[in-house]
Amino acid sequence: MNLEVKQKIFEAIHSSETVIISRHRRPDGDAVGSTMGLARILRLTYPKKRVFLDNEDASDYLAFLGSEGERPTDADYENALVIVLDTGTLDRISNCRVLNGRMLIKIDHHIDDKPFGDLSWVEEERSSACEMVTDFYLSFRDKLKLDAEAATYLYTGMVTDSGRFRYRGSDAGTMRCAAALLEQGVDTETIFAHLYMDDFSILRFHAALTNRIRLTESGVAWLRISRAMRRRRSLSMEEASNVVSLMDSIKGSLIWIALLENDDGSVRVRLRSRFVEVQELATHYHGGGHACASGATVYSREEEAALLAEADALLKRYKETHTGWL
Ligand code: AMP
Repeated sequence: MNLEVKQKIFEAIHSSETVIISRHRRPDGDAVGSTMGLARILRLTYPKKRVFLDNEDASDYLAFLGSEGERPTDADYENALVIVLDTGTLDRISNCRVLNGRMLIKIDHHIDDKPFGDLSWVEEERSSACEMVTDFYLSFRDKLKLDAEAATYLYTGMVTDSGRFRYRGSDAGTMRCAAALLEQGVDTETIFAHLYMDDFSILRFHAALTNRIRLTESGVAWLRISRAMRRRRSLSMEEASNVVSLMDSIKGSLIWIALLENDDGSVRVRLRSRFVEVQELATHYHGGGHACASGATVYSREEEAALLAEADALLKRYKETHTGWL
């Protein structure tokens, strides 16, 4: 699929001496895996090219994948090809220099409501950007090189963004890509140990929080983590944000929402759903994302209440017109 744009991307990479790769802020497994995976493929294939990762933030729980290496200087940008992965909009990129290169390419699987780049390859139905990088490798496998290290980065992003192959978008194509990565000798046991094992204190925190989950009238599950709660437990924002998964299997709660108070008082909203689409709701509150996994920000208690009321109305409408799992 999309062979023409992939061919153009391949040619742009092939003819560039310097390639700089970036992703979105507050990175997840897919953002880190796809950028590190593509960088590794390009370094293996083209040892003479200068390949950089350039990002302004990092994620503790993905530190096991290793460092992103030395960042490029301003001079390195002068004739560089810049590739941004897993990022729907320019303002979410974790690198304020992306427009300083010779050419900008977007490779992404988010809903493309704010396109950018001189070349853009977006497939919204893909389960992850890592799947797209793997597909790119498979399209040019006679010219590109992959090894166990690159496959480990890409497999980590595939399993995290697809909810371990459970979410919508995980299809036969996803499995074919996963198989190609596993054939390189990915150590899945070690990846899953890193992804699943938590400190005992986190387990106890989750147990306490389960009692604080609330349901709206129509069944939207939600949980609010205040700054004070985070401080009391010495939790990072990243650790607190994982609570969204505590609500993912409540029958009838086809939408679930974590409200996470930032240090500046604004509230990061993590929206998740089954069957019902929440992406549009997220766009009403300074956000966006995927049909069933989106993010947003609210700036007051009133806006927070309005978002919950809108989610409740959305679920109510869905339940009026559908049966099953309700
Ligand atoms: P999160 O809850 O932060 O994991 O985000 C879920 C999905 O929505 C991810 O694919 C994010 O990249 C995307 N997302 C999160 N926040 C925003 C935002 N403010 N604007 C657009 N997309 C977002």
